[in-house]
Amino acid sequence: MSPQNFSLDAFGLLVALLAALLGLVAGSFCNVVVLRLPRMLMQDAAHSIPPLSLMAPRSHCPKCLHPLLWQHLIPVVSFFWLKGRCAHCAERIASRYWQTEVLVSLWWLICAGQFQLLTLNTPSTGLQALFFTQLTSALLWALMGSALVCLAQIDWEHQLLPDALTQPFLWLGLLGSSCGFLGLSVKESLWGAAAGYMSFWGIANLYLLVSKREGMGQGDMKLLALFGAWLGPLPLIPLVLLASTSGALFGLWRLKITKNLSANEPIPFGPFLILSAFALLLLGPKQVLHFLALVR
Ligand SMILES: [Zn+2]
Repeated sequence: MSPQNFSLDAFGLLVALLAALLGLVAGSFCNVVVLRLPRMLMQDAAHSIPPLSLMAPRSHCPKCLHPLLWQHLIPVVSFFWLKGRCAHCAERIASRYWQTEVLVSLWWLICAGQFQLLTLNTPSTGLQALFFTQLTSALLWALMGSALVCLAQIDWEHQLLPDALTQPFLWLGLLGSSCGFLGLSVKESLWGAAAGYMSFWGIANLYLLVSKREGMGQGDMKLLALFGAWLGPLPLIPLVLLASTSGALFGLWRLKITKNLSANEPIPFGPFLILSAFALLLLGPKQVLHFLALVR
């Protein structure tokens, strides 16, 4: 990814606005996924009538159960309009909702910028094919980042990385690379997925053999396979190094502030992998590998 000329014309501004708005909507949907998917997976199908899904029942206040009106569902705006409280019972609404919306919107904007959507002018026919490729690539990465935001929050809260998210995005990575949208060959993508899964599988089994305790969940293996499919095998090295270092530092910090109280409570690894992946993507995986002298 090369430095771009940021003189935006009207077309660029329009694309930027559209990307940010779509990002807000995607972020709003992420909130629904984070809130509902773990409950959907844990619900007892026989006892929850009607069953909870991403679409039903309608969004409501968790305290007074009052359904939210359309004007209460506008991303970010509604939160500040309602001064962070439910319109009916004045129960506090968690800031996490609007923060997720802003974060995802920002990510969609970054994707649009990284794939030169803001500086590509469409009208000339020669550029249209290029625009389509760039648009698809940007859309794939935007969706992938949104899924990662969901996965990080779900893992942090529930120590769970649902297959319902990791599996489709693993396949999307493999398909995306095979269609030439991810900037890596399908071979790299396949090897990345396999290397990601197998390396964590190996570590987990070795740990189990030595300590007779489970140290890593299946979800972490599938998440690293997903990253492998999107990035190829080599970037997994700085990714895992960064995630382990930040996870270990966080563990030490928690040990210090909680004075041993929750030392045995496991720390989910997914959020650290995901934060590290975002850092890697923002720095540029190729540049990081070059810096670490892993590629020339
Ligand atoms: Zn309420």
